[in-house]
Amino acid sequence: MKKLSTERLETQFADFKPRLNAVEATEEANRCINCFDAPCIKACPTGIDIPKFIRRIGAGHVEGAAKTILDSNVFGLSCAECCPVELLCEGGCVYNKLNHKPITIGKLQRFAIEHAYDHGIEFYKAGKPSGRKVALVGAGAASFAAAHELRLHGHETTIFEKSELAGGLNTNGIAPYKMRADTSLREIERIMNLGVQVKYGMELGRNLTVDELLTSHDAVFLGLGLGPDSRLDVAGVDKNPRVLGAVDFIARMKLAPKAELAWLKDVHVALVVGGGNTALDACRELRGLGVKHVVVSYRRGEEDMSGYKHEFKWARQEGVDFWFGTLPTAFEATGNTQKVTLTRTKVDAQGKVALGTEKMTLDTQLVLVATGQAKLESLLSKTPGLKFEKGKLVVDAKTGRTGNAKIFAGGDLANGGMEVVNAVAEGKRAARAIHEGFTHG
Ligand SMILES: Cc1cc2nc3c(=O)[nH]c(=O)nc-3n(C[C@H](O)[C@H](O)[C@H](O)COP(=O)(O)OP(=O)(O)OC[C@H]3O[C@@H](n4cnc5c(N)ncnc54)[C@H](O)[C@@H]3O)c2cc1C
Ligand code: SF4
Ligand code: SF4
Repeated sequence: MKKLSTERLETQFADFKPRLNAVEATEEANRCINCFDAPCIKACPTGIDIPKFIRRIGAGHVEGAAKTILDSNVFGLSCAECCPVELLCEGGCVYNKLNHKPITIGKLQRFAIEHAYDHGIEFYKAGKPSGRKVALVGAGAASFAAAHELRLHGHETTIFEKSELAGGLNTNGIAPYKMRADTSLREIERIMNLGVQVKYGMELGRNLTVDELLTSHDAVFLGLGLGPDSRLDVAGVDKNPRVLGAVDFIARMKLAPKAELAWLKDVHVALVVGGGNTALDACRELRGLGVKHVVVSYRRGEEDMSGYKHEFKWARQEGVDFWFGTLPTAFEATGNTQKVTLTRTKVDAQGKVALGTEKMTLDTQLVLVATGQAKLESLLSKTPGLKFEKGKLVVDAKTGRTGNAKIFAGGDLANGGMEVVNAVAEGKRAARAIHEGFTHG
């Protein structure tokens, strides 16, 4: 695997939820009332026994707390740092109904897991070799969660990854003020220590086929995530080096040495196009990198944004300027400056967006396009048994099995793009079904 540069731009961001010390963690743990039928558990896609791990922290058994978390979610540290807890576990905490601050479950989770990792505590070992082999495509959270579970049962696992780095978006996509790439790799290294093999530079559709994998393995798990950034359908945009895909830019900012992005110091005004979570991350990241004026152009209104409300609020507080009801319609490059023409939109009674006549211009030095990621349907739809609906690979909700009995899938490829914690849950679900199949099939 490629080594991370220590001189990455992402390291200049402060940690927005710093870790708790032991006194703070114990005090917070003791606030939890250990609800019967705890709603917080139901709100966690990996179903961590939250009251149990919190009780263990309160009792000083921090190692046991970490084990409780990891038994359900092997990416316990990544999720502690990047889960949108406001909408998941903490959003489900009963304290919200009592008009009190919910228990800071994410921070307690991080406290317990970092304690275990910092002390080199390892809870798992690979099972006795079963003689079964599973191929996993894509080295993201979904595949690693599946591989971990499969190794516990002694199945041989090989992950085939097109790039030279493990972790997918967990490594190269999460906003650096939530989590840095090295945290993701720290967690992945522990999983790899169980004997998970990773073959880098192996790309399905280029030097690898599903047929080959089915011939040489007993089961296949597809964890390819989503495709590249969608492009803007505006003349001249493709040849413009200062109009970049937001996911691509975020990955460069997180992984590349600072020197490669030295040109960012000349970016004073930037435009982000889109209204989802990637747009909200990108605009906040640009502000954090020191860009003075960041404008977000979204074709609909504030109430239609798919990005999280709390992230929108923070972006506003950080000085991001939102231009609702606008769409870029022309780019004119002069040196490093782009004159972007934005046209006011109108939404008809059926909710369709059309262009109006009012236009405005913005001189920018960088445009990030955050209008979604392509779906990988064309790459996989010819494989017998694989079916797509609305861009998502169709899988059985209980097992993650596709229409082909030997092929399973999970993560963004199958859910259309959710969170790391969903990818982990779906990877584990598929691994359990694969194991069941080996045992009873
Ligand atoms: C900008 C951004 C910010 C995000 N922030 C958060 C956040 O704060 N919190 C959160 O919980 N979630 C966040 N998410 C979502 C989260 O990162 C994803 O839901 C999750 O990581 C998906 O995991 P995955 O394993 O399904 O796919 P991925 O992480 O995308 O992994 C797929 C892997 O497959 C590889 N691959 C792709 N095609 C091929 C091929 N043909 N052959 C071989 N390998 C291939 C890729 O290189 C990649 O390594 C964010 C997403 C984005 C885009
Ligand atoms: S994994 Fe995420 S959602 Fe689940 S308890 Fe931990 S922080 Fe909350
Ligand atoms: S809902 Fe809140 S108080 Fe109740 S068990 Fe969960 S974290 Fe504790």
